[in-house]
Amino acid sequence: MLRLHDTRTRSVRPFEPLTRGVVTVYVCGPTVQSPPHVGHARSAVAFDLLRRWLLASGHEVVFARNVTDIDDKILHNAGHEEISWWALAERNTRAFTAAYDALGVLPPTVEPRATGHVPEMIVLMQRLIDAGHAYPAGGSVYFDVRSFPSYGELSGQRIDAMQASEDPGDKRDALDFALWKAAKPGEPTWETPWGPGRPGWHLECSAMATKYLGPTFDIHGGGLDLVFPHHENEIAQSCAAGDGFARFWLHNGLVNTGGEKMSKSLGNSLVVADVLSRVRPQAVRYLLGAAHYRSDIQWSEEALADAEASYSRIEGFLQRASEILSGRPDVAPPPAFADALDDDLAVPRALAVLHESVRAGNAALADGDKSALETAAGEVWAMTTVLGLSPDDFGGGEADGTLRPVVDALVPAMLAARDEARARKDYAEADRLRDALAASGVVIEDTPNGPRWRVD
Ligand code: ZN
Repeated sequence: MLRLHDTRTRSVRPFEPLTRGVVTVYVCGPTVQSPPHVGHARSAVAFDLLRRWLLASGHEVVFARNVTDIDDKILHNAGHEEISWWALAERNTRAFTAAYDALGVLPPTVEPRATGHVPEMIVLMQRLIDAGHAYPAGGSVYFDVRSFPSYGELSGQRIDAMQASEDPGDKRDALDFALWKAAKPGEPTWETPWGPGRPGWHLECSAMATKYLGPTFDIHGGGLDLVFPHHENEIAQSCAAGDGFARFWLHNGLVNTGGEKMSKSLGNSLVVADVLSRVRPQAVRYLLGAAHYRSDIQWSEEALADAEASYSRIEGFLQRASEILSGRPDVAPPPAFADALDDDLAVPRALAVLHESVRAGNAALADGDKSALETAAGEVWAMTTVLGLSPDDFGGGEADGTLRPVVDALVPAMLAARDEARARKDYAEADRLRDALAASGVVIEDTPNGPRWRVD
């Protein structure tokens, strides 16, 4: 049975969805002020692993990940570039989608945008005002923190120990936070009963999570840096309004990008697109997913090289196995693998099981033990699929992944026809087949075990 660490209770607890067989998950997505960096990718991979494990263990998963497409930094960066805020947000949203796709992150069931959910935010603000938890002031709407006694519970702080740093302005109490920001000259605005303005960041997640997943849902995720104030404020807004909100709070660790040394060696860019121009996505995904999701990751050139070496061992074994075996053996992952993932997604232990199967498979290849090879290869395929590390998840940039099985069937058929042509000494025909494959981008390499091929 799956057990997950819940930040709110600071404990690992058995997880069962509210509705049998269906798990509802909300993950805080990016503020699209600039293209994604490796920290964004880490969070996406962490929750992709959770989702894949829920799917593999028989659940349907409704997965919502928002896009914050209006905020101070978006307005600032758009002003700097002299383009509209929405053009900047759109461009960066596409960059995020491209990075997620490249890293094998499954697309969300729904990807709501803040600016598309102002009516839902107005309804939530009205509920909070009616219940005495929020108040309009100076065109903004604020949440009354002291009206919600469990404020601070998620982050383990007491209200009276909290320090309010900024100038309180129109707030009744310096700790109160903005649900809605009054219009400022030159900024985009949306109409509300309290005047024109734009959404506060915290409010949008409460409004969108409950719109798509219901007033109470299973899992809320995000980076550890979002616990306070963002998630604390989400809980305050939704629970003060009377919603049950998230039953489990999961937070991924951060990416430690080190100091100057790393900046030099990696060309000083942690933008995902730049990293992927130097390192293949398989290695990046392996590095981001190999540590436990709650641990911080040390990002370095050495760590990337280690990830590439580990991934190559898996990939090389699967390639050698597929030269011997016809088709993919249908084998379940070993129980130790499932036990590890059920234990708060203990990926390091799961990977140890995976590499053990690779070792067993390589030994079976050396011994010519086809039955043991079938078991090991089937296990490795199954485990890499669960972890989002199957070679199938990285289609070499093909636009339509559904063509891969077609290519996998047609190329061996043509290679077999070429062998038959050679056997009857019809070299003209053998050459014709080889040239036809080459023209379609299939590179053939003859090995003692027969031809090996790949799509270039
Ligand atoms: Zn959020």
